[in-house]
Amino acid sequence: MNAVPQDRFPTDAAPIIRIRALKKSFGAHTVLNGIDFDVAPSQVVVVIGPSGSGKSTFLRCCNGLEQAEGGTIDICGHRLVDHGVMLKERALNALRTEVGMVFQSFNLFPHLSVIENVTLGPRKLRGASKEQAQSCAIQLLEKVGLAHKAHAMPASLSGGQKQRVAIARALAMRPRVMLFDEPTSALDPELVGEVLQVMKMLASDGMTMVVVTHEMGFAREVADVVVVMDGGAIVEAGPPQTIFSAPTQPRTRAFLQAVLSRA
Ligand code: ADP
Ligand code: MG
Repeated sequence: MNAVPQDRFPTDAAPIIRIRALKKSFGAHTVLNGIDFDVAPSQVVVVIGPSGSGKSTFLRCCNGLEQAEGGTIDICGHRLVDHGVMLKERALNALRTEVGMVFQSFNLFPHLSVIENVTLGPRKLRGASKEQAQSCAIQLLEKVGLAHKAHAMPASLSGGQKQRVAIARALAMRPRVMLFDEPTSALDPELVGEVLQVMKMLASDGMTMVVVTHEMGFAREVADVVVVMDGGAIVEAGPPQTIFSAPTQPRTRAFLQAVLSRA
């Protein structure tokens, strides 16, 4: 199934992510079983689905953290996977500067200050000078509301603040696409809002985003398309009002019922 209904594409916008027949197994366990997926520039796609359905593996395949073994992935003008064959490591590094990723567990470097976390990538991978990297980092920290924490160490921050630094760090590479894997799942409930707020701001700035989340309010408000995964396949995709109000697939209904009864 095509993740993005064709009528939602502006006709002149080539997809920034185009995935066909993506397959991935761990041993005998097929985790992604023929995923077709398109994302147009500036689109926000929210991916939902039960635990173990392959959402994280899917995102990790999109920036080369997992080796896909079948299918084709075109992303940001790179053919990351060509009929199951992945780009070589050097080309992968170029791709990773264009595809930012934010994880559930923040993954900040604990021995580096906030601003050092944000400047490290641009200095090492983009060849930015210290001054350039720092002025860009300050701007990004202002954007996520944390300029006053520039010289703090990660351990002194709340989870919400850590995640906002992680977003600023990803943005410092000037990515064309941002992938989020359950960015608020590790947070205390009262800290979820500040991270979603930053993500909403990014979406309204026109960032292309693929977001795995259980935050249905965010999906309703921000997503152009909601994709439902189950058992390593996309079972249904469409605009949020359709997916939430009139899902056609029993597996979508079962998942939504389970999530909404927990809320
Ligand atoms: P989700 O993010 O939807 O919860 P995952 O992509 O994490 O799903 O996992 C999908 C399936 O793949 C699960 O059954 C999981 O146990 C399995 N899996 C994920 N990563 C690995 C791995 N590195 N080795 C073996 N199995 C894995
Ligand atoms: Mg996951």
